[in-house]
Amino acid sequence: MLEHLRSLPTSLKLRSAGDSTSFTVLPSHDDHALWMQKMDITPFDFSYLSSLLGQAFTDWTNQKDSVPSGPIAAYSVWNTEGECIGEDSGQITDSDINVRSMVLECAEKEQTLSRRGISKHGEYLLIAEPLFSRINKDIFAVFVALVFESHRSETSEAVVRSEALHYHTCFYRRFEYIFMTDLLHSHEQTAREEHRRSILFQIVQRMHDKMDVGAILDEVFVSMDYLYPSTHIMLYMSQDQRSFNPRIKPLLIQERGEDICVRSFMEGRLIVSRSDELDKRIIEVGLPLKGKQGIYGVFHIEMNEELMEDSDLQLIAMMADTAGTAFENAKLHEQSHMLIQELRVINDLTQRLNKSLQLMEIYQFSEQEFKNIFQADFCCILQLNDSTNRFEVMATNVKEIRQRTYPMDSGIAGYMYQTEEPLIISDYTQFDKVTSSFMELTGAMSLIAAPIRVDGQVKSAILLAHVREHFFSYENYRLLQMLSIHLGLALTNATLHAEVRRLANLDMLTGLYVRHYLDNIIHERQAHDYCGSLVVVDIDQFKQVNDTFGHQTGDQVLKQVSDIVTSSVRPEDICARWGGEELAIYMPQIGIQQALVYAERIRTRVEAETRPSVTVSSGIAEWNWMDEKVSVESLFYRADMALYSAKNGGRNRIVIEEQEGIR
Ligand code: GH3
Ligand code: MG
Ligand code: MG
Repeated sequence: MLEHLRSLPTSLKLRSAGDSTSFTVLPSHDDHALWMQKMDITPFDFSYLSSLLGQAFTDWTNQKDSVPSGPIAAYSVWNTEGECIGEDSGQITDSDINVRSMVLECAEKEQTLSRRGISKHGEYLLIAEPLFSRINKDIFAVFVALVFESHRSETSEAVVRSEALHYHTCFYRRFEYIFMTDLLHSHEQTAREEHRRSILFQIVQRMHDKMDVGAILDEVFVSMDYLYPSTHIMLYMSQDQRSFNPRIKPLLIQERGEDICVRSFMEGRLIVSRSDELDKRIIEVGLPLKGKQGIYGVFHIEMNEELMEDSDLQLIAMMADTAGTAFENAKLHEQSHMLIQELRVINDLTQRLNKSLQLMEIYQFSEQEFKNIFQADFCCILQLNDSTNRFEVMATNVKEIRQRTYPMDSGIAGYMYQTEEPLIISDYTQFDKVTSSFMELTGAMSLIAAPIRVDGQVKSAILLAHVREHFFSYENYRLLQMLSIHLGLALTNATLHAEVRRLANLDMLTGLYVRHYLDNIIHERQAHDYCGSLVVVDIDQFKQVNDTFGHQTGDQVLKQVSDIVTSSVRPEDICARWGGEELAIYMPQIGIQQALVYAERIRTRVEAETRPSVTVSSGIAEWNWMDEKVSVESLFYRADMALYSAKNGGRNRIVIEEQEGIR
């Protein structure tokens, strides 16, 4: 029945008499009865009336059967086009009268007609009664009765008229019944629609309340589970999205080919396909997660078709639309948050640089900060040592690799040194370029790493790792790439600064340290060491060398003596030009007798190796932690005194403070 009602034309649905518009404002509760009576059919409806006329005829026949039949032998109902809709026996249509033309004439003249005829049962009369619509009085059908002359009486016409009236009532009862069910149906629809709207409203509110991308997506799943519990829903994201939700997966276009998700994503619209599975009709939906700036993914929904109406699809589409906008907003919020973070780091880094230009400090600061920004479990910063050609771990939170060094062509750092490109690994087990002890020792699965350029050359590398696979996003990777440039600049500055400082401490001619640097070193060492010795070396009769060979040769001799001095002592000894042609060597942690051995080596080598040959005299002084006169000044003074003695003693000799000169 319901199916039949839904197939009725809209013109028969909600129209009251005299109202030619296609909708009617529904009446208030009190006016229902009156409103119902005012409803009527119009000539527009006549061509659709057949089934209603037929149903009314069946109702009428059933009711008539319960009362004793009168003088009338047969009844039938005809539509205004002259088609017989219902008949209680075949007598009327089988009669020798052209009933169709009689019906059409009756409808045209709008009055009762009668015709005579003869059948094998005898003479008879056909009576055609027009049926008028109840308000506009249009003829919508013709009621035809057959009376045999043998049974006919004075009341026969009146009986036919009253039966026609009865039929008319049956017809309008059916008509009103259609309205009632139709109304109930539309009421039901409205209630359902209202419910959906209120749910959608709540969902929209909840989504827009959230600024977290993951929470918005979770909200979609919660809402879908609530509204359509038997639905199977997945979300395939085109960009990588950190999520613990097992229903969010990456959209792998190459693997999927031309499926509904890929099409929906590419075309940016809802795509629905229907298929049969066992005894069920399955409806499959691809629905893009779309914002104003782009498409971020696609929902894939599968459900039993019986549970899904068009309005459900609309609701789901609206929900996806809302999710798309909310997602985009949250994403933008997240991005701006990320940008602020980034600026903060750059700012912090720069500030730290202004405070200190120490390389180690930058490394340690970066290790901490980068780990925090990317929420990484592990971080490691390596630096290439040019003299050993190995990467040295400068800062890390992984104990096992602290202070370790690696060949420059191995591991992640080595790989980046060759490619000069940053690297992102979503799943280390799938990575086959190089093996990494950093990843293996930590058991990490995801990695982002970037080479760091100092002065245009790859000199360092930063590695960030997490134990979970697919942890780092592409945005993370890009950000690290950018930050590594800033880190590179910071390291370049620190390196340059260190170089400038080193140069400032060096004497141009001899390549030895300058005097104040030596002063500082002795001062620093005296705070920690147990003892140390200072050797002062002065070239004998140097004035004469200058006078004889010229100042330039004098310079060369000074350089030769300087080289002999540096190559005669230990690497940890500090050689400096103390002034003019006087040199000084500070020897940490050794006593005067050991220092004497080195001074003697210098003396003999200078005598043997310099060209033109010169000799040197030396004075040596020592200090130890028990000394009262531990200061740098007193040490210099005592060594100088010893040198003075050596000069006085005839030159080309070494004097130990307050001791006899020896040769
Ligand atoms: P002695 O030390 O044996 O007493 O005699 P000396 O001639 O070396 O005397 P002294 O140490 O006082 O002489 C310093 C001379 O060293 C003066 C100066 O001509 C020379 N001299 C100092 N610095 C330089 C330098 O940088 N280059 C050259 N060519 N000569 C220098
Ligand atoms: Mg001299
Ligand atoms: Mg001198």
